[in-house]
Amino acid sequence: MRLVAHLYREAGRAGQEGLAFAGFLPKRRKKGRRMTTKFSFDVLARDGRARKGVISTPRGDIRTPAFMPVGTAATVKAMLPDSVRATGADILLGNTYHLMLRPTAERIAGLGGLHKFMNWDRPILTDSGGFQVMSLASLRKLTEEGVRFSSHIDGSKHMLSPERSMEIQKLLGSDIVMCFDECPALPATDAQVAASMALSMRWAQRSRDAFGDRPGHALFGIQQGGVTQHLREESAAALRAIGFDGYAVGGLAVGEGQEAMFGVLDYAPGMLPEDKPRYLMGVGKPDDIVGAVERGIDMMDCVLPSRSGRTGQGWTRHGQVNMRNARHKDDPRPLDAACTCPACRNYSRAYLHHVIKADEIIGSMLLTWHNLHYYQDLMEGMRVAIGAGALAAFVANFHAARAEGDIEPL
Ligand SMILES: [Zn+2]
Repeated sequence: MRLVAHLYREAGRAGQEGLAFAGFLPKRRKKGRRMTTKFSFDVLARDGRARKGVISTPRGDIRTPAFMPVGTAATVKAMLPDSVRATGADILLGNTYHLMLRPTAERIAGLGGLHKFMNWDRPILTDSGGFQVMSLASLRKLTEEGVRFSSHIDGSKHMLSPERSMEIQKLLGSDIVMCFDECPALPATDAQVAASMALSMRWAQRSRDAFGDRPGHALFGIQQGGVTQHLREESAAALRAIGFDGYAVGGLAVGEGQEAMFGVLDYAPGMLPEDKPRYLMGVGKPDDIVGAVERGIDMMDCVLPSRSGRTGQGWTRHGQVNMRNARHKDDPRPLDAACTCPACRNYSRAYLHHVIKADEIIGSMLLTWHNLHYYQDLMEGMRVAIGAGALAAFVANFHAARAEGDIEPL
């Protein structure tokens, strides 16, 4: 237990001192940025199936396992980019579907690209638009060519195809580009999942061809196949034959439940090349993230910490805390006494409760900051634990703290 306490202390210190956590940063790093012109991935340590590593890009390193905050419309809602960085994020995610409709990829390119436009100079991963066009757009028509659809904003007509998705992500200046794929709505029959996966693999080849040769930029393939093991294997084989800079496990976190998701993650990451980053798209809650890292996932993204921050939900070591609850209204204690974020350092539960109830903007700002800080602390804790070969103890402690629940009301 002494080692676990040490790991927690180290992780907390890393949170306090941002990236100055001694002994973690690569030795070649200068002024917080390692100079490289290439995209590469190095596994630095393993613990069971979990890996600790670093993705090097010309825009800076990404420490893995990494959590990527979601900046849907060229902003992580309620946060300035410097604040997002201060939580410990090395990379953000941007949404192709939203940005192509408003303000448009061509406009962003004309203004110098997405990094300059949103004032974030570190790596950005963009999704392909495939998932959101199927969940948000109306009048969709899916063909071999791609998807025709009407904008959910103004009804205007658009087309997304592998070629158009690659063009948009290039216009945005994305560092990590995702293949255009199709994710079938669940529940679906095995035949439907198989046909959809086969289409996604043909689109993966077209994405690869359209992406071309772009040094310093990466293209990730996306494994599909639902919860069917042999379809996951077929998909992985097709992607490996094409060859990508990284591989995503797609088609999960779409309502199948944690048990089914972990069931797939028990075998799916092992089907993907060992020497490339593995990205689980759209995940998730803290316990989903911990379980995914244990199963060999290196990257994740989710709107949960920022979205729940705007609805008054705080995530802490002790689980989820509803700050709208009246039991906080006279409570002078911080949301989490061990957290070093501005919301916990400078404000009481009573204040957070008040500004959330009063719909004050600072309520969203403070809780989003806290939640993103908590997520990044969790990632740092796992990176330190994997490096020390102590992930199992870290995970046991993580579950024990959550089982205790939130502190008792005063
Ligand atoms: Zn906090």
